[in-house]
Amino acid sequence: MRDTSFDQLDDLYQEVILDHYRNPRNRGEIPSPHVSARGFNPYCGDEVILALNLDDGRRVDAVAFSGQGCSISQASASILTELVKGKSLAETRRLSQLLRSLIHGDELTDEELDLMGEMEALRGVRRFPIRVKCALLAWATLDDGIEEYEGGQ
Ligand code: ZN
Repeated sequence: MRDTSFDQLDDLYQEVILDHYRNPRNRGEIPSPHVSARGFNPYCGDEVILALNLDDGRRVDAVAFSGQGCSISQASASILTELVKGKSLAETRRLSQLLRSLIHGDELTDEELDLMGEMEALRGVRRFPIRVKCALLAWATLDDGIEEYEGGQ
């Protein structure tokens, strides 16, 4: 099946997304992770499974993802794993909110864009509402996993 999702994005952003799609970072599993969650996007058939381990200071120590789906969903998960490493749970939540703001077209400060890193490549999906769920899937899955983890403390 041909994946046309990236045909719709700007060239600059395509490059980042394709790179993460073809060479996913931190793909795999973590045995008995502190935080784990599975997300599914029925509109596109995307699946993302995230696993995190936290250190003593409750910062993300190890992170891995698995799953399958379109290039945007899998690239977003790959970028997520790079961004959240070393972050506190509050900081990961902030990143998730920033991505939503970016996709919804809000103005972000330079400092906020710095925090986003390569996640900014997902900015282009805002023009394609059907793709927004693909881009947000990994982050929504992370939010669910953290909420469950914190609820169990
Ligand atoms: Zn998708």
